Amino acid sequence: MTEPTREPSIFSRIIAREIPATIVYETETLLAFEDIAPQAPVHVLVVPKTERYANVVELAAGNPALLAEMVTAASHIAAERADGEFRLIFNTGASAGQTVFHVHAHVLAGSLEEGTLAH
Ligand code: AMP
Repeated sequence: MTEPTREPSIFSRIIAREIPATIVYETETLLAFEDIAPQAPVHVLVVPKTERYANVVELAAGNPALLAEMVTAASHIAAERADGEFRLIFNTGASAGQTVFHVHAHVLAGSLEEGTLAH
């Protein structure tokens, strides 16, 4: 019996350069690009190139070093594009606002208003 094939996530298609995005940072393991619907002066998504982990809980259990790389990437991005301070959000589960089930961090920075959240 053949395995059911899973469509690549929208983020995998961005990583494969099949659909365009404004890429702001890249390493061997991560890609970061501007969110298409920004909710802050700086709103960047940091995405592991692997789509093995659907959310941050799976990532923390399966590859904590990669999660640490995401935090370091967020810090670089906030230093380059704002004053170095930032909010890091991982929506986890549909009822928490997660719409793409390929783990990603929202990096929000630059004069954030009180209560600004990604969704
Ligand atoms: P979440 O709701 O936490 O799963 O976050 C998904 C995010 O992906 C949302 O903030 C969307 O605006 C963003 N998004 C969806 N499609 C694209 C795209 N093609 N390029 C950039 N950001 C996107």
